[in-house]
Amino acid sequence: MLFADNDRMETTLDPQDWEEFRKQAHRMLDDMIGYVEHVRDRPVWQPIPEETRANFRESLAQRPMSLSRVHEIFMHDVLPYTVGNVHPGFMGWVHGGGTPVGMVAEMLAAGLNANLGGRDQMPIEVEKQVTAWVREIFGFPETASGLFLTGTSMANYVALLVARRAFLGTDVRKKGIRDHRLCAYASRSAHGSIAQAFDLAGMGTDTLKFVPVNEKFEMDVEVLAEMIRKDRESGLSPFFVAATAGTVDTGAIDNLEKIAEIAEAEGLWFHVDGALGALAMLAPEIAPRLNGIELADSIAFDFHKWGQVPYDAGFILVREGELHRSTFAAHEPYLMREGKALAAGSPWPCDFGPDLSRGFRALKTWFTIKVYGAERLGQAISGTCELARYLESRILEEPELELLAPVSLNIVCFGYREGDNAEIAAGIQESGIAAPSTTMVKDKLAIRAAIVNHRTAREDIDALVDAVVAFGNSLSRGENGE
Ligand SMILES: *Cc1c(COP(=O)(O)O)cnc(C)c1O
Repeated sequence: MLFADNDRMETTLDPQDWEEFRKQAHRMLDDMIGYVEHVRDRPVWQPIPEETRANFRESLAQRPMSLSRVHEIFMHDVLPYTVGNVHPGFMGWVHGGGTPVGMVAEMLAAGLNANLGGRDQMPIEVEKQVTAWVREIFGFPETASGLFLTGTSMANYVALLVARRAFLGTDVRKKGIRDHRLCAYASRSAHGSIAQAFDLAGMGTDTLKFVPVNEKFEMDVEVLAEMIRKDRESGLSPFFVAATAGTVDTGAIDNLEKIAEIAEAEGLWFHVDGALGALAMLAPEIAPRLNGIELADSIAFDFHKWGQVPYDAGFILVREGELHRSTFAAHEPYLMREGKALAAGSPWPCDFGPDLSRGFRALKTWFTIKVYGAERLGQAISGTCELARYLESRILEEPELELLAPVSLNIVCFGYREGDNAEIAAGIQESGIAAPSTTMVKDKLAIRAAIVNHRTAREDIDALVDAVVAFGNSLSRGENGE
């Protein structure tokens, strides 16, 4: 078994019968196309049966199993029990819907098995092309650098490291921050990954100070200026401010122009966490609300949210590419480049971030932008904001419901007036009708609908509102939601 007929050890993992493999592979592709095409007919989410979970507690698979059998297990045990973000009724957290185009592009990338750490290859040119488009979207100069990363959590972290290197020089890479008493700012509504970046960087989360928000959940810029002044007086060195373009709770956009102005005057690095909102630059009627983003020193955002690119596809853009490179570039002998043959094309992506081996995230992004075009992607973004306003109007019409935060973008926080919103949200998730999530808005637990998926339509909004009212009514009548 282990040895082939000619007594040679069989080490290749390629199929023996390519024709059979081809047929099976086509079945797998057809199944996934069918899945996306008919996803609306499925529940958004459904609980995982215990026996299904138990099937995934077996010991290490030693013996081969046919591809068709493993695929059957996938179809039966995995595919039906995902989060549901491909489904138009999914409105929890901030999840992108993906596209069939991104899906097949992912297959092409896997076929090439390209490692985008560096070297002279067209896949790197594809990433550079996307980077150039990103510069164009945000009005950044030619000298700006960009890099795909897993997501905005990593992109925020990379931005912080570049900012720190900009403030303290490259010495910080060797000596750490020593006795520098640095401090930084983000709003109370900023995403947890900003504080996490300070933790990961060994600077401690206390280095990050939280600026209060105004009634629209935007950073209170007057207070920011005041905090910087006081911190300086007390001997601290303010060096970094992170504004948010589209907060995760309510979709609020900080006053980017004003924060840029303060950062400029105070010599702070101006970072924008645009995970959710930055790509609204593609939607002409929303883009003006991001005025000031073109002044950022760095922008972190996700193609896998509003950009509809399949997971994962985070991105960091840095105004001064040289600062970015000199934050990460190293001189390891095995990465030596003479600028010849395969080793040409320096600097390489691995000079701009902590990853050496990197996948081809750029390909699915390039396909998505080429096939749909920036305009259509922008229309999908506008469409989700329109649906959020429609949801707002439906909530205002229903006497049992209340709006709990202003609708700024594509996120709506609301609730059943006298009800247990956590119970209602869980009940709706279990019903498979829709999948909202929850958050705290001013000490109140809100049902939160973030409309990110390009497939979501008015009928899905209606189904959500009707479900909240129905579950709320039945809970308040003391029924168990059956
Ligand atoms: C989603 C999100 C993040 C984190 O991005 P990931 O891609 O999940 O790492 C950061 N900030 C904001 C505002 C977000 O919405």
